[in-house]
Amino acid sequence: MDTAHLPRIDAARCTGCERCIEICPTQALAQVNGKAILLYPERCTFCTLCEDICPTNAIALPFLIVFAEQKKV
Ligand code: SF4
Ligand code: SF4
Repeated sequence: MDTAHLPRIDAARCTGCERCIEICPTQALAQVNGKAILLYPERCTFCTLCEDICPTNAIALPFLIVFAEQKKV
């Protein structure tokens, strides 16, 4: 699985407030040892809710830009 586009959580910034875990509509996130992690990456729909709600900006969703192949005519 290509993981380049998935949310990245900076453990150093995470305070374990669980807001991202509560708001995630697909239960992709979980808390382990007081830090949020993307436990089920296959569930992530890239909705960006976790990124928006994190009070310490610990979550970043990198945009993945995919160029379509140009069709030869
Ligand atoms: S919202 Fe941010 S600080 Fe709170 S648990 Fe999630 S990643 Fe950590
Ligand atoms: S981007 Fe959305 S679906 Fe993915 S982990 Fe964050 S809140 Fe959950």
